Amino acid sequence: MTKRVLITGAAGFLGSHLCDRFIKEGYRVVGMDNLITGDLRNIEHLFPLEQFEFYNHDVSRFVHVAGPLDYILHFASPASPIDYLKIPIQTLKVGSLGIHNLLGLARVKKARIMIASTSEVYGDPTVHPQTEDYWGNVNPVGPRGVYDEAKRFQEAMTMAYHTYHGLETRIVRIFNTYGPRMRLNDGRVLPAFIGQALRGEDLTVFGDGSQTRSFCYVDDLVEGIYRLLMSDCVDPVNIGNPDEITISEFAEEIIKLTGTEQKVVYKDLPKDDPKQRQPDITKAREILGWEPKVSREEGLKVTYEYFKSLSTEDLYKKEHKTFEKYIQA
Ligand code: UDP
Repeated sequence: MTKRVLITGAAGFLGSHLCDRFIKEGYRVVGMDNLITGDLRNIEHLFPLEQFEFYNHDVSRFVHVAGPLDYILHFASPASPIDYLKIPIQTLKVGSLGIHNLLGLARVKKARIMIASTSEVYGDPTVHPQTEDYWGNVNPVGPRGVYDEAKRFQEAMTMAYHTYHGLETRIVRIFNTYGPRMRLNDGRVLPAFIGQALRGEDLTVFGDGSQTRSFCYVDDLVEGIYRLLMSDCVDPVNIGNPDEITISEFAEEIIKLTGTEQKVVYKDLPKDDPKQRQPDITKAREILGWEPKVSREEGLKVTYEYFKSLSTEDLYKKEHKTFEKYIQA
């Protein structure tokens, strides 16, 4: 029998790439998204396929899916610092009420469930690079708290369902990832810089630009996720690219890539912005035989081509206005 997988956040950046991967592997895919931050254009090529179904649904409300499910991947969540400032309550709900609903569904369906966790569980880390056994340094009441604590709760809840109910669970801790289908105006650094270059604006580096991040190309991430799901590893696993760079250096790379004549301007560093971030991927290497293959140079080229192919309307869209109706929910 063909296996069937439910992917939440299916119209988002990572969710849509996961839908593609599972279709390619021969699965039947049920995509679910409430389209607050997702975009149907990311999956419109899948709609004609008989193996693909889509539900416009908010997983923070009771989730019903008819028929069998072999796997559930919970990837629904706002994922950029600006998103969770704008929609903090939804961010908390999808990571708490949402995962509770999906864990219940997984029990009923006897499905294996994977949750998308994040390097944000490490907060502003005092251990570098970050290993899975580091417990983190998170400010629960800061602007990032709604995301970080939702994801930490999600891990705790998932582990409790594993130990108490014997559910088959997997936890992936995702570090900064980029590639085609990222939202151009979600405020994250890579689309921000490329969007600024395309609009002929200066590139805004926050703080002095000495903070670091390590960027993973989406295809590498999807491969790591797929391998982890198929493995028997219940404990959290970091998936990311350890190639670390300062944000100032990153701005210079984008200037070179895009050939923009604009310069870098410095803005205030947002509160609780982590100073450094690099995954220790020893565990993924040992358990999954996985490591990233795509260099930043290669990955950025493909991503830049994608952003260039978007319309002028996309380039200038102030999309956060569309969130206003959700802010009080
Ligand atoms: N950043 C920046 N300029 C921007 C957007 C972000 O310098 O226009 C910085 C931000 O302060 C952070 C880093 O880039 O230090 C990565 O930010 P992002 O929002 O992409 O994700 P984070 O890793 O902080 O969740």
